[in-house]
Amino acid sequence: MANYPEIQLYIDGRWKHASGQPIINPADETTLGTVPTATRTDLDDALDAAERGFAIWRKTAPLKRAQIILKAAALIRDRVDEMAVAMTLEQGKPIEQARLEILRGCEIIEWDATEGQRLYGRVIPSEPGMRHTVLRQPIGPVAAFSPWNFPMSSPARKVAGALSSGCSIILKASEETPAGAVQLVRAFHDAGLPAGVLNLVFGNPAEISEYLIPQSRIRLVTFTGSIPVGKYLAAMAGTHMKPAIIELGGHGPVIVCDDVDPVATAAASVVGKSRNAGQVCVAPTRFFVQESIYDRFANVFAEKASALKVGNGLDPSSQMGPLANSRRIDAMETLVADAKARGARVLAGGHRRGDRGYYFPLTVLADVPDDARAMNEEPFGPLALVNPVKTLDEAIEKANSLPFGLAAYAFTRSAENADRLAEGVEAGNLSINHFVASVAETPFGGVKESGYGREGGTEGLQCYTVVKNVSHKTG
Ligand code: NAD
Repeated sequence: MANYPEIQLYIDGRWKHASGQPIINPADETTLGTVPTATRTDLDDALDAAERGFAIWRKTAPLKRAQIILKAAALIRDRVDEMAVAMTLEQGKPIEQARLEILRGCEIIEWDATEGQRLYGRVIPSEPGMRHTVLRQPIGPVAAFSPWNFPMSSPARKVAGALSSGCSIILKASEETPAGAVQLVRAFHDAGLPAGVLNLVFGNPAEISEYLIPQSRIRLVTFTGSIPVGKYLAAMAGTHMKPAIIELGGHGPVIVCDDVDPVATAAASVVGKSRNAGQVCVAPTRFFVQESIYDRFANVFAEKASALKVGNGLDPSSQMGPLANSRRIDAMETLVADAKARGARVLAGGHRRGDRGYYFPLTVLADVPDDARAMNEEPFGPLALVNPVKTLDEAIEKANSLPFGLAAYAFTRSAENADRLAEGVEAGNLSINHFVASVAETPFGGVKESGYGREGGTEGLQCYTVVKNVSHKTG
């Protein structure tokens, strides 16, 4: 199909064609192309390449590494329009959101490239004649697994983190949205990255992870995806004594205090919730609103949600695209039916739209009982749950009541409230008075069952290193 790239494996600096599975356009359920399936031999070749690539890359000066990585980012910026079209075709998100994702991916790559030159160690003062030097060294070849909701920026986080720290990487990107990773890798190839430093495979996710993770040459595992799969891969990494960066789902609480404007906050919430049709691990989902502004907030939220234009992401007037696959439609229908049966009120949306393409409108449920499935399972779709609370303490208690803790949000003008929220909310990322959970320069990741390790910021790069203390008796 025009505008959609051919999807190939990339091993040891060479593209490789192979047969595989169809890639479906979620806007109309047509086939865009085929994603190749890597064989065992391909995986062995990728391991050999990553080992050779690491030997070259770790000995490449950080400045030279940064120059190549920054050149790749510049090429991606040049290609943003063509990449955005491919992303909307395969994933569904509105074209402007696709562009912003790609530009955000560039910011991540650029920030990591420059910070990778500052992975300083320390010299520890000690007794005379003894010098202790702490080195931060690249950990080695990385096995990375990225999901379908952010086809370019999620692979970019993993590739930028590994390469900027001096590691090589085998990336298994999503088979459902592979173009973002292919175009990312192409930019690094065109920027002159040595062969073997970056390798890209697709295929059967379970077979690939079960083969790569136990390999002694793989030194770090990084995964973004669902909690059950994350726990399984983390356990496998643990069995083989490998560190892992595990970034899983959440169930974003949003605490709305009664000192804010309910209309403006509801309007911002619709924008935050509808981004990528809610298929975001940091999506705002459980809204806990103080009683005096609850009705106004819920009604404006519903009104603005109903007014959102849902349509093909290639149409620039669409504000929300289709869901990325039919599994999300099934999940939305199940969660809405369960919540309704338990007494929740449907204020907006609630039903699939049409029967071609995976369209589901932004759905607002109010007065949702605590035992509704949607209040306990991450919807990972356009579902907002709005409930009243009396006090800030009650809101924080409810926010912390689930076993997840990725992103949380709060709206207040009170410094005292903000301080209590910062202290009390169990989350890796808390955003107050806005809906941006992470930027290139800040660490991003979860607590509790949302995972461990960090991506982004100095802390993210450090996850790709090992610490070595060199103890030198000089006298
Ligand atoms: P899923 O659990 O089948 O898969 C989740 C991701 O893991 C996919 O990218 C898949 O390719 C990959 N995967 C599955 N089994 C694997 C294995 N054994 N080894 C390596 N990778 C494997 O669910 P799904 O239907 O694709 O996605 C829905 C759920 O996933 C959502 O409920 C959401 O919680 C979660 N999810 C989270 C994120 C995130 O950013 N944290 C992204 C995408 C999906």
